Amino acid sequence: MYDAEGKPYIDLISGIGVSNLGHSHPYVINAIKQQLDKYMHLMVYGEYVQTPQVRFAEKLVSQLPGNLQSVYFTNSGTEAVEGALKLAKRFTGRSNIVACNNSYHGSTQGALSVMGNEEYKQAYRPLLPGVKFMRFNEIEDLELIDEQTACVIIETIQGEAGIRVPDIAYMQALRSKCTETGTLLILDEIQAAFGRTGKLFAFEHFGIVPDILLLAKALGGGMPLGAFIASNNIMSALKENPILGHITTFGGHPVCCAAGLAALEVLLNENLCGQVPAKEELFRELLIHPAIKQLRGKGLMLALELDSFELNKKIIDRCIANGVITDWFLHCSNSMRLAPPLIITEDEIRKACGVIIKCLDQDETD
Ligand code: PMP
Repeated sequence: MYDAEGKPYIDLISGIGVSNLGHSHPYVINAIKQQLDKYMHLMVYGEYVQTPQVRFAEKLVSQLPGNLQSVYFTNSGTEAVEGALKLAKRFTGRSNIVACNNSYHGSTQGALSVMGNEEYKQAYRPLLPGVKFMRFNEIEDLELIDEQTACVIIETIQGEAGIRVPDIAYMQALRSKCTETGTLLILDEIQAAFGRTGKLFAFEHFGIVPDILLLAKALGGGMPLGAFIASNNIMSALKENPILGHITTFGGHPVCCAAGLAALEVLLNENLCGQVPAKEELFRELLIHPAIKQLRGKGLMLALELDSFELNKKIIDRCIANGVITDWFLHCSNSMRLAPPLIITEDEIRKACGVIIKCLDQDETD
């Protein structure tokens, strides 16, 4: 990335988890141009079949387990959340929802209702009724899920909480509890999918499969696109009583779908997921410093924890001044976000970590 004066930056944020292939990948740009030359918006999504949507949906489901075959494209992550919550209510005939403390699912009213941080919600109440919150990664709290629960919505790896990776046993117990009670499990992988954690989808680390999968951010290859994905049987609940249970004008925009398909092809053809563990390892090797309390996360979805927000902010500002872009998390202000494009090179990782360590050292000599 370059600023208005032409100064170069190493991007450690990726527009928050969007630019997995970096900026201006030629294959994606070419796919966008080709689609622009054919057509842009023609019809409200779902009313007519349009090739870019169908091709991208086919490619996505070819990478997913057999129960995730029906893709509903939206414009954004938060709209995917809204669609999924409606679908879960409609399919189960229940209205209660269980979500997690410190979660982030978006800023529209439904998504805000399942956000696990009161600070962001209180000014906008009343929100959706019937939402209960549980602690993330605490098996005990799964007791909150019962026969009245329509769905559990949970990030497979929590992002804005400061990158929290749950235990495999917890995720498996959660899956079992949902199955036992007839509750739909919604996994929000809006931030964690598309290779960010070293697997194409983060749920692959845990040996579970959701009933509804949420995608956005990197899904569109840099263009605005989201999706909720379920079985044909579940998704059919939106078809009748009323018909057109969920409609969107621009969701699944042909240009966005063409870009998303191209980005997924690059990710798969270049085996970028397979390169992520070694890049994580290099960050872990290089980011050793007395001021660093912890380096949390999985793959290239990492949080570097410092003592306080004040120190974190100071280091982040210095990093930016020294050509490395990073930030903190919505619900975790003492940790620095490390989520570079997956194509970051070894050399760039060394440079970026060198800047972070230099900025930390500078603090000691202040
Ligand atoms: N879920 C998660 C886990 C997210 O990180 C985000 C965005 N930060 C969203 C949902 C909302 O996505 P959008 O901003 O596209 O509405």
